[in-house]
This record gives sequence, structure tokens and C-alpha cells, in this order.
Amino acid sequence: MSLIIDSHTHLGNFPLFNVSLDVESMIKIMDDYGITVSVVFSLPNDLTLNAVKRYPNRIVGLVWVNPHNGEEALKLIEEYVLKFGFKGVKMHPLIDSFLPDQDIVHPIMELTRKLKIPVLFHCGHPPWSLPWHFGSLADMFPDVPIILGHMGHGHIVYINGAIDVARKHDNILLETSGMPMHSKILEASRLIGADRVLYGSDMPFGHPAFEIEKIKVSGVSRSELELILGLNALRVFNIKL
Ligand SMILES: [Zn+2]
Repeated sequence: MSLIIDSHTHLGNFPLFNVSLDVESMIKIMDDYGITVSVVFSLPNDLTLNAVKRYPNRIVGLVWVNPHNGEEALKLIEEYVLKFGFKGVKMHPLIDSFLPDQDIVHPIMELTRKLKIPVLFHCGHPPWSLPWHFGSLADMFPDVPIILGHMGHGHIVYINGAIDVARKHDNILLETSGMPMHSKILEASRLIGADRVLYGSDMPFGHPAFEIEKIKVSGVSRSELELILGLNALRVFNIKL
């Protein structure tokens, strides 16, 4: 069986969506679906930290920051990465109202370059998180892996845009959760390489049952499947099993 690493999950309560997930329930789902490690990013960050401390071999944390917070965001990244072993940064342009290529994001990118960690952005909702805004950021920071969470989400123009922007920028990777078309996973693998496509479930908004199946039925080869389901995440997030 392939190694499975879930590159996009959350813990907590989300009243707007009427969903919630605690770490014990997440571990149970991971066990049911053969997932070795989940990459978690939640607010407050302490929720992720407690999960990492409780299940250090199963949970990997990304620190969630708002670039509007300036110095405070930088301190948070240093603390969570250097002190608690978090493996990257998560930013949400839609929730925090900024454009990915806006100046306030640059100090964070510079720090992630220094720390040699990737950045995952929510991608797929106007006006803040559309794929085209990641191109100039990728050009400015060519050695920072930039992961587009949801690879454009549910909108075909944005999905095509995410694949296109990844094609033009080698440091952009695509994460598959919430994107409905299995065929776009094959297309992305052919156009940008399967080594830049990452499986994610977006638990508790999505579920591994169908998100894993979506990759499996996409038509990618056995070796591409192994990259997408787990090996890429091992490499990108520098996870030690
Ligand atoms: Zn998410």
C-alpha cells in the first residue's frame, strides 16, 4: 500500500460550515484510511501545537499567520518553526484580506526562504486568492516552494489558471483538496510533473474517502500516484517518518 500523507487538514469548530474535528477523531479517520501523517493548520495555532505534541509521529504543523500583523507574524513563524518544529507557513488571502503578491507578504517569504520551509496559500476565491496573483510572488522568491491549496478550488477558470501558473513557475505546487475534477489531476501531472502535485483532504470540510479516490481514478500511473499521495509531501515538508 502506498504511503499516504494528507497535506491539508484542520482541527477545531467551524460554525459557519457546521463541522468540527478534534485530534482523536482525526487520528481515527487517518487510521481508517491508511494515512500515516496529516499536515495540520488551524486557528488558534495552539490547537495545532497541542495536536503535534500529543501525536508527534502523526501530526505535522504549519503555522498560520496574517501578513497584516507585520513583525508579530514573523515572530510567530520563528517561534513555531524553531521552537516547536513546525514545517511551514499557511496563509489565507481570503480570510485575512490581502493579495498574495502584496508587499506585506514579502517579509514572510524572506523568512521562509531563510528557514527553508514551504508556504501554503488558500487558492481559488475572488478577489483575494486567485491563481494569477501567485506568479509574481513565485518569481520574486524562486527558491521558496509555494503550494496552492485547492489548486483553484471549484471554478474551472481558476483550476485552469492554477495549472497554468504552476506551468510557468517551477516553485509552485498544487494541492488537490476541494477541487472537483479528477481529470485535472492527470492533466496537472502531465503538464507540470506529478512531483509537484500534493494530495490533501481539507478535513473536516472534505474527507479522505473521496479525496484519495479522486487521485486514484485520475488516470495517473502507479509511480505518479505514490508521489502525489505521499512522497511529494515527505520531500516538500521535510517530514521524517
Ligand atoms: Zn482548508
